Amino acid sequence: MSRKPILAGNWKMNLDYKAGMSLVQDLGSALVDKDHDPSRAEAVVIPPFTGIRTVQVLVEGDKLPIAWGAQDISAHDDGAYTGEVSGEMLKALNCSYVVVGHSERREYHNETDEVVNAKAKKVIEYGMTPIVCCGEPLEVRKAGKHVEHTVAQITADLAGIDAADVAKLVIAYEPIWAIGTGETATADDAQEVCGALRKAVGDLYDGPTAEAVRIQYGGSVKPGNVVEIMGKPDVDGALVGGASLKAGDFASIVTFYQK
Ligand code: PEP
Repeated sequence: MSRKPILAGNWKMNLDYKAGMSLVQDLGSALVDKDHDPSRAEAVVIPPFTGIRTVQVLVEGDKLPIAWGAQDISAHDDGAYTGEVSGEMLKALNCSYVVVGHSERREYHNETDEVVNAKAKKVIEYGMTPIVCCGEPLEVRKAGKHVEHTVAQITADLAGIDAADVAKLVIAYEPIWAIGTGETATADDAQEVCGALRKAVGDLYDGPTAEAVRIQYGGSVKPGNVVEIMGKPDVDGALVGGASLKAGDFASIVTFYQK
């Protein structure tokens, strides 16, 4: 089974819709300049909610080889939930992906595995693909409990989701100490946890589901380290923060397969 690599740029709370417009246009041009072959790797941008419509119009209008998604979703369908954005609204913008369980939402918005699980189910219910994030803080890594910690998160985050849906979703392993710090896990560190997560999916479901699920690494991925990280057998992509805000850098990351 061959898994298509997925390189997703999480813009976080950066770039208003005009800046997002420039970035996606520049990214489209950079991918053309680099002769990007979309059959080799999938490029995804994940703007703030306010930028999604602009990205959609540009990408669809210019037929750019870029998918898009959202950074969060409401666990509710509609109604009196001020500030929230529903699955139906995101689906109407043709979002393909929705990030759930990013460590920043777990930390600053108190999102528990239960909430992450409910959100992942909502993404699937509305016909989109969740990117389910997990990862350990530094003290857990120092105690050598990172595998146990991330496997427990993913076990809880996927509870009640059936094998066919798990096979199609994306897991992102993001050690918290490597996010936005310039500190990258080594490629072997990434492989250790991504391999353990795949094995956990096999134990929870079955072999074909484990073979199919795509697992990204995230944490200070840049053009200079992506090739080594992507060389690991259980790493199927990257979730990229800072480097996804520069069109040239993100295009180099997407076209890692040319190196
Ligand atoms: C992220 O926020 O998902 C991330 C990995 O950020 P960075 O690439 O900046 O470390």
